[in-house]
Amino acid sequence: MAENITQHFTSRDQLASAAGGWCFDHSYTRLPSILYEQVQPEPVREPRLVYLNDDLAASLGLDPSYFEHSAGIAELAGNSVPDNAHPIAQAYAGHQFGGFTMLGDGRAIVLGEQLTLSGERFDVQYKGSGQTPYSRRGDGRAALGPMLREYVISEAMHALGIATTRSLAVVATGEPVFRPEPLPGAVLVRIAASHIRVGTFQYAAARGNRSTIQALADYTIARHYPDCEADDRPYVALLEAVARKQAALIAQWVGVGFIHGVMNTDNMAISGETIDYGPCAFMDQYDLNTVFSSIDSMGRYAYGQQPRIGHWNLARFAETLLPLLHDEQEQAIALAEESLEVYVRHYQERWQDIMCAKLGFQQSSSDAVSLVQDWLKALQESKADFTLGFAALSDSDEAVEELLGQYPELRVLIDRWRAQVVGQDTPMEHVRQHMRAINPVVIPRNHLVEEALSAAQDEQNVEPFQQLLDAVTKPYNYDDAPERYRVPGPLDPTYQTFCGT
Ligand code: AMP
Ligand code: MG
Repeated sequence: MAENITQHFTSRDQLASAAGGWCFDHSYTRLPSILYEQVQPEPVREPRLVYLNDDLAASLGLDPSYFEHSAGIAELAGNSVPDNAHPIAQAYAGHQFGGFTMLGDGRAIVLGEQLTLSGERFDVQYKGSGQTPYSRRGDGRAALGPMLREYVISEAMHALGIATTRSLAVVATGEPVFRPEPLPGAVLVRIAASHIRVGTFQYAAARGNRSTIQALADYTIARHYPDCEADDRPYVALLEAVARKQAALIAQWVGVGFIHGVMNTDNMAISGETIDYGPCAFMDQYDLNTVFSSIDSMGRYAYGQQPRIGHWNLARFAETLLPLLHDEQEQAIALAEESLEVYVRHYQERWQDIMCAKLGFQQSSSDAVSLVQDWLKALQESKADFTLGFAALSDSDEAVEELLGQYPELRVLIDRWRAQVVGQDTPMEHVRQHMRAINPVVIPRNHLVEEALSAAQDEQNVEPFQQLLDAVTKPYNYDDAPERYRVPGPLDPTYQTFCGT
């Protein structure tokens, strides 16, 4: 392990802050220079603040009111950059639907790492701020609809307690983007623990040498997994730590019916945050084969494939680390394989814990797991809504009766569930309290997301977006969530999502 890896980082008290509260360090630029390019955002014609995440701004040590005025808005749009920002585009590669490609931030620019008052470090990134050396044939821009989609879904995921990048602001540019029809353009300001991806390591391995990979691995350990530094085998420890994080993350996705939609290795963050909200969506009816993405014709990234793809992506990560794991290649491969087993075991454990808790069991047991499996099967056969099914059990006997009114075939399973839960010696209401803390009653339903985005994009009316955001950021609001945010929309077997490029 390289000595003194913390030399990368500057602390907040050594830095000057700029207007609005920006306090940027630039530790990533101390990495080998093949990993990034300095680049300035391209100004936009007429920046208009569509949405600002006041709470997030405050938690980052920023002054929300600064962004109500033109100087602050200009900074969110990339028309000017804060005094202490040194913007970069990051290089990365990636397996896209299984095929390897050299990529990089083609329409994103990292302004710097904001240090919060408590010393946390977050990348601040523009998405849609113009071309970079990695744009290939892309225009570097983004449309308003997809940026609002990222905003609302990432904030919903955060409220669900799932690790994710966050959304600080969306600014309309006053310029059209052509997809190919003209759409209003926008810039999203995204906040992330970092933007280091499996694909960043793939880029380092493809373009760099052993020392490039080691520099990136040491940096990643220092930034995200400091406990690995003291391990006898720090890079094995890193691989296992990332494997555990991904296993826990994907088990949570599966637990709420989230489908990422484009789990390419460039869209898997080493920090363990959910990243790159493109064609993502929440499943309605429970079906492992659910796919919404228009470009995923083979179902590679279907709901039920996600755990397996997580493993596949980690294997690509492990390959890049081989030279650091052991001097003998065979031994390195054996160590990598063992670490990937950690993922498999940890995923299974996390999945069981989550699914058993969703049915009201504080501990997983073989009885509880077999009930989970049969319940899921019953949901699938009856074509009942995944979220609603769990929410009804969590809510009340009346809600259960309502569900049974629609899906009488669930009765056998629900009777079995009731008997098993009551057998735990815990009063039902107590069990339900726990269930209501884990089973969301409000998720970003596809029809409501589409409705909110169309109003914002076509009519400049952000009211439905605001209401949707309010609802989905309180996912466990069994008492007050308005009915329309709790129930599935009309069945639409043709519903498709798009990459949003
Ligand atoms: P994604 O599938 O959204 O993760 O994007 C894959 C790659 O395409 C990344 O390298 C992006 O930066 C790049 N990309 C996506 N949209 C654009 C665009 N409009 N202009 C330039 N590059 C883009
Ligand atoms: Mg991406």
